[in-house]
Amino acid sequence: RAGIRPEVERMPESGIVEVANYGRGRDGLIPLWIGEGHRPTPAFIAEAASRALAAGETFYTWQRGIPELREAIARYTGRLFGRAFDPERFYVTVGGMHALQMAMRIVSGPGDEVIVPTPAWPNFEAAVGVNGARAVALPMIPGPDGWVLDLGRLEAAITPRTRALVINSPSNPTGWTASRDDLVRILHLARRHGLWIVADEIYQRFVWDPGLGAETGRTPSFHDVMEEDERILFLQTFSKNWAMTGWRIGWLEAPPELGPVIENLVQYTTSGVPAFLQRAAVVALEEGEGLVEEHIALARHNRQIVCEGLRATNVVELPSPPGAFYAFFGVDGVSDTRRLALDLIDHANVGLAPGTAFGAGGAAYLRLCFLRDTAVLEEAIGRLAAALPRLA
Ligand code: PLP
Repeated sequence: RAGIRPEVERMPESGIVEVANYGRGRDGLIPLWIGEGHRPTPAFIAEAASRALAAGETFYTWQRGIPELREAIARYTGRLFGRAFDPERFYVTVGGMHALQMAMRIVSGPGDEVIVPTPAWPNFEAAVGVNGARAVALPMIPGPDGWVLDLGRLEAAITPRTRALVINSPSNPTGWTASRDDLVRILHLARRHGLWIVADEIYQRFVWDPGLGAETGRTPSFHDVMEEDERILFLQTFSKNWAMTGWRIGWLEAPPELGPVIENLVQYTTSGVPAFLQRAAVVALEEGEGLVEEHIALARHNRQIVCEGLRATNVVELPSPPGAFYAFFGVDGVSDTRRLALDLIDHANVGLAPGTAFGAGGAAYLRLCFLRDTAVLEEAIGRLAAALPRLA
């Protein structure tokens, strides 16, 4: 198409959207392809937005976010990591996706490379590419105990053009979770090569492996091992913990000296996040701990049911994921799950995301989101158990 920038034209169609478009609207379909829970945002959060709206908070607002929310984010982060955080480190964004966009805009552009371990949330690669930079896939290694990030291969993938590494721990879709030791080694490697780290720890509270933080309630984080002014950009979101996917609100955490740059980026792109949504986000952080804990308990319970149920089909390989709320499983004899995902809609009336959507190394897998009503998941597993052995 003449006149369109090639980096925009090149943007891939989402492999999840293709399956969702095929299945959407079918009677009785159980859609487990998207990464979100089934519960709407609770009233105590939603009503705070309504109150702020009714009170006339309808004007242009702070580019960096309202001070009350930046302070609440600093307090929340402080509770997680057991020390004080400066609110100046935090910038309110239009969801984690916008935080990612800004992070990539800050650190990469045409001619640059950004390393993305795969299988990965597809938006990482797209956010790199839309700036004219190149995402370099670093396939992780599937093993009997789960996925492994080979740090030797990570270092070997670095070239003079590399500007940043994306580290998503726990990972969507694989559940891979970095140990503290992994994080130290990644950080040293990034320092040695002068690279930025784009750290996506949005699933940090969904952790199941006792060795990786299940007993402390959060995974190891770059916050545990970094210096204050490190070249690390964290993205975060209200979407999952607080059941606010449709609100489009999250935050970016960055070294304070980036403040003026980020303020300008916000000014000239979104001009800020609606103040009435930010008021509700404050309430989510200050009063939503019980809600987050309910989500975590539900996901923990479902993880076991889903993993055991899938393994009982005898055609599925699935080491239990150490973190996040996805089962990313291989099916015996299937190397391309795009067709299988479409067939499962026709023959099981269950919607799963094909692993082909998650980049290099993903094609033999399907992703199932288990942050759902347990009874619905049990029904879905029953249908999959009946259909998969026939289709595989
Ligand atoms: N990061 C990861 C790994 C995700 O899976 C998601 C959502 O699925 C996000 C970030 C961002 O979510 P949102 O843009 O809804 O804040």
